[in-house]
Amino acid sequence: MHNKTLTELSHALHLRECSSVELTRYFLERIERYDAHLNSFISVTPEMALAKATAADERLAKNEAEPLTGIPIVYKDIFCTKGIKTSCGSKMLDNFIAPYDATVVEKCQAAGMVMLGKTNMDEFAMGSSNENSFYGAVKNPWDTKAVPGGSSGGSTAAVAARLTPVATGTDTGGSIRQPAALCGVTGLKPTYGQVSRYGMIAFASSLDQGGPIGHSAEEVALLLNVMAGFDERDSTSLDHPQEDYTTYLNESLKGLKIGLPKEYFGEGLDVGVAKVLDAAIKELEQAGATLHEIHLPQTHLAVPVYYIIAPAECSSNLSRYDGVRFGHRCENPTDLMDLYKRSRGEGFGGEVKRRIMIGTYALSAGYYDAYYLKAGQIRRLISNDFSQAFKQVDVIVGPTSPTPPFNLGEKVNDPVTMYLSDIYTIPANLAGLPALSIPAGFVNQRPVGLQLIGNYLSEARLLNVAHQYQQRTDWHKSVPPNFA
Ligand code: GLN
Repeated sequence: MHNKTLTELSHALHLRECSSVELTRYFLERIERYDAHLNSFISVTPEMALAKATAADERLAKNEAEPLTGIPIVYKDIFCTKGIKTSCGSKMLDNFIAPYDATVVEKCQAAGMVMLGKTNMDEFAMGSSNENSFYGAVKNPWDTKAVPGGSSGGSTAAVAARLTPVATGTDTGGSIRQPAALCGVTGLKPTYGQVSRYGMIAFASSLDQGGPIGHSAEEVALLLNVMAGFDERDSTSLDHPQEDYTTYLNESLKGLKIGLPKEYFGEGLDVGVAKVLDAAIKELEQAGATLHEIHLPQTHLAVPVYYIIAPAECSSNLSRYDGVRFGHRCENPTDLMDLYKRSRGEGFGGEVKRRIMIGTYALSAGYYDAYYLKAGQIRRLISNDFSQAFKQVDVIVGPTSPTPPFNLGEKVNDPVTMYLSDIYTIPANLAGLPALSIPAGFVNQRPVGLQLIGNYLSEARLLNVAHQYQQRTDWHKSVPPNFA
């Protein structure tokens, strides 16, 4: 059952070959049996899941079901879920029970999907290895000595190990695509504004974007159909007609112009990863696409710009955790200052503190023009690079991560090396563009992802390219041996 595609599961439910309650029980049992090896969940919610599954079965019986009614799903623990702990991977919110559902959660519930639980993540989504979680590191199902990537590593590990058919994640600088690559699953960061940020705990608001994670482009398209859409409660939500992201999946790639950025294939790219990408690109060429070398000359500035903008915005967003209104509060504060200082000092982990300090510095009077303003200007240049490129090509193809999954502990003491994990993913966030990572092969039995970046609102096109690749290859079907 766990190796069936989303479409097969949906058909099975609609044809009453199995019930949602059976499907839900089946995945809950897998979580129970396997998650001790992975630590991919922060909360598992069996009673609620079975109640929702029963309701979904009633809907199916009345023929009032939608395509994903009765399908289990997990949410990254950054999405608020009413009545359920929403920790964002932090001690600060370890005691926080969300009083409302995020729009994404509301939409999935309205579609009849069944929440199995909330997945582990780097604290406040800051990290590339899932080692920054208050709840402990997540392990990669392909090799439990390796990291799953971050910050949505709980979601991608759970999907890879078939503990859930699909999952949600968020991507501020690569946190859907990089862990998708490292766990061998498919993950999409939509165009900024496609998926509502309401109820998604804020890290860096001008970059944060929620998105779907599944095994294939088809699954991601089906889940995006549910997740995307205008939301008046999010002031940056895009107001445009609802689309069906499966529409173009089966179109031929004949005549598709693929851009290969010279800057994405140079120094710093692991040779094993480069080989895997070569083969994947040849496959796309055989499917009818033409290849064109392009330039994204400001690529080298993306990581430095991101590490001004993201910390600046996070220092502002995280100022709400003051020990007064919600979240962790220190014992016996002597006065208000002591309350603030100790609550924040005890509640936040090391990486979050580092970012708050960098951000506060960058925004302080006298430094604002030198750092934040300048970073904003360079961000525009990075966007312009893409606009130029999309005059010549339809889709940009390159690596998702410069290396295969690295070992747990390998980069924890070297933040700069860790930050470079996102060198190829960050530019799409800075420009607000949609981008997708799909499994493309292995290096030493560890997965490698291929990244596709598209122009604004070209999700359906990106998913078409990914689907065509997945019609010709089986990487997305590989199951980690210990979870088969
Ligand atoms: N790894 C990057 C960071 O630590 C990206 C995180 C994300 O996309 N949420 O900021």
